[in-house]
Amino acid sequence: MKVSRTLRLVLGDQLNSRHSWFDAVDDSVTYVMMEVRTETDYALHHIQKVVGFFVAMRGFSESLSAAGHHVVYFSLDDPANRQSIPANLQQLLDAETYTQFEYQYPDEYRVDVILKDFCAALPIAWQAVETEHFYTRRETLADFFAGKKTLLMESFYREMRRKHGVLMDCGQLLTGQWNYDEDNRKKLPREHRVTPPLVFDNDVSPILSAVNATDINTIGTIDARHFVWPVNREQSLQLLDFFVEACLPLFGSYQDAMVPQQWSLYHSRLSFSMNTKMLAPAEVIDAAVAAWQANPDAIAYHQLEGFVRQIIGWREYMRGIYWMKMPEFGTLNFLDHQAPLPEWYWTGKTKMHCLRDSIGQSLQWAYAHHIQRLMVTGNFALLAGVAPDAVDGWYLGIYIDALEWVEITNTRGMSQFADGGIVGTKPYVSSAAYIDRMSHYCGTCYYNKAKKTGDKACPFNSLYWNFYDRHRDKLERSPRIGMVYKLWDRMKQEDKAALLEQATFYLTNIDKL
Ligand code: FAD
Ligand code: SF4
Repeated sequence: MKVSRTLRLVLGDQLNSRHSWFDAVDDSVTYVMMEVRTETDYALHHIQKVVGFFVAMRGFSESLSAAGHHVVYFSLDDPANRQSIPANLQQLLDAETYTQFEYQYPDEYRVDVILKDFCAALPIAWQAVETEHFYTRRETLADFFAGKKTLLMESFYREMRRKHGVLMDCGQLLTGQWNYDEDNRKKLPREHRVTPPLVFDNDVSPILSAVNATDINTIGTIDARHFVWPVNREQSLQLLDFFVEACLPLFGSYQDAMVPQQWSLYHSRLSFSMNTKMLAPAEVIDAAVAAWQANPDAIAYHQLEGFVRQIIGWREYMRGIYWMKMPEFGTLNFLDHQAPLPEWYWTGKTKMHCLRDSIGQSLQWAYAHHIQRLMVTGNFALLAGVAPDAVDGWYLGIYIDALEWVEITNTRGMSQFADGGIVGTKPYVSSAAYIDRMSHYCGTCYYNKAKKTGDKACPFNSLYWNFYDRHRDKLERSPRIGMVYKLWDRMKQEDKAALLEQATFYLTNIDKL
C-alpha cells in the first residue's frame, strides 16, 4: 500500500505558530522553509530586513522542530540550496516520495504566480490554504465594493467594525462616532519628553556573517550584536505589551508628529511582527481594546480608535486593493512621472532637514513612521516627478516591514497618486507649511520654510505649485483639488513665473539639494 506523505511549504512571511497546520504533530508531514537568493535579490533590501527575516525564520523552524514537527530548512549557505523556491521544492519531491504538496496563500502576487506555475506542472495532488492571519480573504474587499463607483476606505472600515464587532456593542457604536481623526494629529510640544522605544538586544552576527559571505547587495546599516527588532513571537508580544502600556495613551495625538532624532515616537513598530505573521492583527486589536477597557482614564477613546482604524481599516483595505488590482496596479503611472530618484535617497546627504532626518533614520533603523513616509519622502518624490517604479523600488527595499502587498498600495497608490485616485481621492503633496506644522524640522533647516523663491527658499514651496501647474489637465476637475487652482489663478503672473522658474532650477539641480 502506498504511504501518504505531505510536503508543506512555509514562506518567510508565514511565521504563524498558531496556524492550524501546527495544531498536531503528524509524522506523515514534512515542512520546508528556505532562505533563497530569488527573495534576497528581487529588490535592493536593507541589511536589517534580510537579516531580520532570516533570524525570525530560523527561530520559527527551530520552534517547529522542538515541538516535534519534521522540518527541512535550507539556509543561505547550504550547498544543497538551489536558491529558488521551485528549484528547492522540486529537489525534495525528486528525492522522496510525496503524495501531496501544500502551501499557504502567499501575500505577494509575484510568489503566487511562482507557486501556481509550479503546481500546474506537479504530478501529485496539491492544495493552497488560507494563512489564517488576516480578518479578510483576498477577495473580500472586491466583493464589498462590487457595483460601487468609489473604493472609499471609510466605508470598508465601518463594515469591518460591524462585521467583526470591534468597538461595537450589539451592532451599535460604542460611542456616538465612527472616526475620531479630528482629535488626533497634534504637533509634539517642544518640552515633551518622548518615552524611549523598547528595543531588543538580539545578537544576529552569525546570520550577518552568512549574508556578508555572499554577493547580496544591501543598503543601510546594522548593529548585529544589538539587533533591535523582535525576531520571534515572544519578543513580538513583549513589543505589543509595551505599545499598549507606554505608547497607546498618546498614539493618536502624535500620530502625525515628526521630531528630529525621534525615530518612532508613539508608533507601535509592530508592522514587522504582523507582516511576518508572528503576531495576528486580531490579537493586536484585542490587546489594545483590553488595555483601554482596563484603564479608560489613561487611554482616551480617540487614541484607541485611531490605532484600530490603521489595522482593521487601512491594513486590510490595502491588501484587498492589492488583490483586486494586481498585476495592473504595478504598472500604473497616471501622472506619467519619469524622473530618476535623487541620489541622496540612498545616503540621506541633503541639506533639507526633513528629508535628511527621515532618510537617515530609515538607513539606520530600516524604519520611518507613516507621516515621514507619506509627507516627507513620498511628498518630495511626487513633487519631483520621480517614476513610480523607482519610488516603489526604494520603499520595497528600505523598510523592514516592506512586502509588496502593503508597500505598493501605499507607495504607488496613496503616496504617488500613480493609480489616479483608487486609494486616495487626492495627491498627498504639501508645501513647507504642512511639514512645519507637524514637525520640528524647519527651524534648524538650511532652507527657509517661509521663502518661495530666491536663495535658500524651501524647495517644497515652489515644487508644490509647479506640480499643480504641470498636472492641471488631470487634477483640476477633482472636487477636492479645485480650490488649489483658484488660489493659483489669483496669483500675479510674475509671481507664478518666479515660482515655476525656481522649481525648474531645483529640479535641474536636484542632486545638489
Ligand atoms: P503604527 O503607526 O503603529 O500603526 C499600526 C499598524 O497599522 C501598522 O503596524 C500597520 O500594520 C498598520 N498601518 C498603518 N497605516 C497603514 C497603511 N497606510 N497601510 C497598511 N497598514 C497600515 N506598511 C507596511 O507594513 N509595509 C510597507 O512596506 C509600507 N510601505 C509604505 C509606503 C508608503 C509610501 C507609505 C505612506 C506607507 C507605507 N506603509 C507600509 C504603511 C505605514 O506607514 C506602516 O505600516 C507603518 O509606518 C508601520 O509602522 P508601525 O508599525 O509603527 O505603525
Ligand atoms: Fe523640509 Fe523645507 Fe522645512 Fe527644510 S524648510 S525642513 S526642506 S520643509
